[in-house]
Amino acid sequence: MPIIEVENFAKKYPLPDNKNETFFAVNGVSLHIDKGEIFGILGPNGAGKTTTLEMLEGLVDIDGGHATIDGIDVQSHPFKVKGIIGVQLQANEYFDNLSLVELLTLFGALYSREIDPENLLGKVNLLDKAKAKPANLSGGQKQRFSIACALVNDPKVLFLDEPTTGLDPQAKRNLWDLVTELNNTGMTIVLTTHNMEEAESLCHRIAIMDHGKIVAEGTPQQLILQHAPEPPEAPLHGNLEDVFLALTGHALRD
Ligand code: ADP
Repeated sequence: MPIIEVENFAKKYPLPDNKNETFFAVNGVSLHIDKGEIFGILGPNGAGKTTTLEMLEGLVDIDGGHATIDGIDVQSHPFKVKGIIGVQLQANEYFDNLSLVELLTLFGALYSREIDPENLLGKVNLLDKAKAKPANLSGGQKQRFSIACALVNDPKVLFLDEPTTGLDPQAKRNLWDLVTELNNTGMTIVLTTHNMEEAESLCHRIAIMDHGKIVAEGTPQQLILQHAPEPPEAPLHGNLEDVFLALTGHALRD
């Protein structure tokens, strides 16, 4: 049963070289995402992935079409929607002088919720960093902390915008495990990624966007059979990433 329904989404922005003219950054996107799915949105830079998510999240105005999350119209009830979604943006800024526990308590208060910060940090494997400041976290730890922040309101749907960009292989796999664990609790997860391996191994279904439109949609298996039916010869061995992990994985800091 769909928890997210998007019909004909459209968003116009000024052309970069002529501000008097506009172009469609998102142009007629429709999506039906089932409860409990991990749904991936793929596409080259500028395809309209982030803008599509931002419209769903109530962060930018919708120029055309409409959408509901769990039956709530995102345009007419943006605050109600914000109460049931968690959002991890591509980049985050925090108050420098607050610790992870203090920041989570603060974010909880913004939702008028009393939260258990240690429990949230445990979920993202950062309990030992409870008193640390975000500036002192590694890239992978920062990403996991931003997911903890997105979980303060116990969301039904979690949006992750390129959650593993820039992470080393070990940190990336830790984050995949976290996404799978959250999904196993019944949470619907919508993510954008440039990483094909990530999309193939994590996502139940994928939409591929280009020039503001969805150009293909299906399970990874369906998309491969439909668009790349001739598989390359099976490799005899693992890939270089496996070598990297085998040699350094346990010692890597994430
Ligand atoms: P993606 O996430 O697929 O990389 P985006 O949704 O970020 O793509 O961007 C889609 C297009 O919209 C790009 O051409 C981008 O430059 C443009 N765009 C995004 N946000 C804005 C904005 N606030 N103002 C003007 N143009 C924007």
